[in-house]
Amino acid sequence: MSHCSELTLEPGDILYREGDANDCGYVIETGEVILYNLHEGIKVFRERRGAGAIIGELSILTGQPRTVTVEATQPCRVFTVAAEQIVERLNKLEPVLRACIDTSISFSATLENQTFLRADQVSLAESTLRNSEDVIELLKIETDLLSALENREFKMLFQPIVCMTSEGIIGAEALMRWQHPQRGQISPARFIPVAEHMGAIQKLTAFAIHEACLFLRHLREDGGNLGAFFVSVNVSAIDIVERKFTDLVSFALDQYEIPACHLKLEITESAVIAKETAAQSTLQRLLDLGCGVAIDDFGTGFSNFSQLRVLPLSTLKIDRAFIQNLHLSQKAQDIVEMLLLLCERLGVDVIAEGMETIEEVKALRRLQCPNAQGFYFYKPVSPDELSARLEQQYDAFRDSG
Ligand code: C2E
Ligand code: MG
Ligand code: MG
Repeated sequence: MSHCSELTLEPGDILYREGDANDCGYVIETGEVILYNLHEGIKVFRERRGAGAIIGELSILTGQPRTVTVEATQPCRVFTVAAEQIVERLNKLEPVLRACIDTSISFSATLENQTFLRADQVSLAESTLRNSEDVIELLKIETDLLSALENREFKMLFQPIVCMTSEGIIGAEALMRWQHPQRGQISPARFIPVAEHMGAIQKLTAFAIHEACLFLRHLREDGGNLGAFFVSVNVSAIDIVERKFTDLVSFALDQYEIPACHLKLEITESAVIAKETAAQSTLQRLLDLGCGVAIDDFGTGFSNFSQLRVLPLSTLKIDRAFIQNLHLSQKAQDIVEMLLLLCERLGVDVIAEGMETIEEVKALRRLQCPNAQGFYFYKPVSPDELSARLEQQYDAFRDSG
């Protein structure tokens, strides 16, 4: 890729002429230029641009030849910026913002050529949204998300977490589901990032925490003693930078009269690292409150082992990436073994995520992994189904005792 360079111009020097091919834009550091079109030898002046202005942007963004001639009117120093660099930067923009820019550019080019035309004679503007189907899908999610909460279209499922030795259920992860009236079930992997982006995640998190506490309360009313059973709720980086987040949690626990030890909050490692200081203090406050704190999907983000030294956590969840086909990969087994040892030394609980086959489970057992959560044991189930399973387990325990 070509890099920036610097040019000097004297008054009267032409930077480029109308109709020239484009390969770069320019940023004026000092001096001033004038932009014009030549009509039958007469200069039609368009604009003057001075220090700090950009020139040549239009033809780069439209991919068309230069639309004006640029002449220095003072001594100038200008930086060149390669067209490909500008396009690369543009491509990284958020799609709606990018479409705004593309549309404005092509509209201003249309205005320049304005003549009197009938409606059916003017051209149809090009669609400027790249991946328009994806963008429209995201906008639909944004549009429907807030009303979906009011319309009670969200619900929580609970995926049991088991002890590998007894295969008994020790806890459950609360996983959100959106049942859209027209579009069916939408995956959290799809709508959670949108909710984060549009600032609606706190409402969803509050819903998840309340549903988790409500479930725990029903369990207690039905069966009495919760023992060491816990429910784990996923929270986002945006939630935990909010100082009031701990208040939300303790308020919900009080409201449903649930001791804090039955609630765990899960957060991905990259989310904590991104918001380091604020995140750490919230996690520490949650631990102080008596809740569990789990680092989710461990090993997929920017794993930084020095972080483990400082992260306030009580549980580490090993990502499915290490568990899938564990029995076939000595390296994966070595990594999981090392993580288990590390957690033991740090006094942190471990949950392996995403085992689907008996071979993966056997490999985990050989490594003496204590706890597991995966389709091999249970898929996410409704609160009623989880209650029924827990009751069966309780009955079996009582009969054997
Ligand atoms: P996660 O927190 O890592 O949750 C585990 C995901 O793995 C769940 O997907 C679960 O159904 C799936 N899973 C569990 N066992 C297996 C297995 O054996 N094989 C395979 N292939 N998958 C398995 P789900 O429910 O689609 O959730 C996806 C992600 O969406 C979650 O990943 C979490 O990051 C996010 N999420 C879900 N619910 C919530 C929520 O209430 N709040 C927030 N902030 N995020 C949520
Ligand atoms: Mg999780
Ligand atoms: Mg996970």
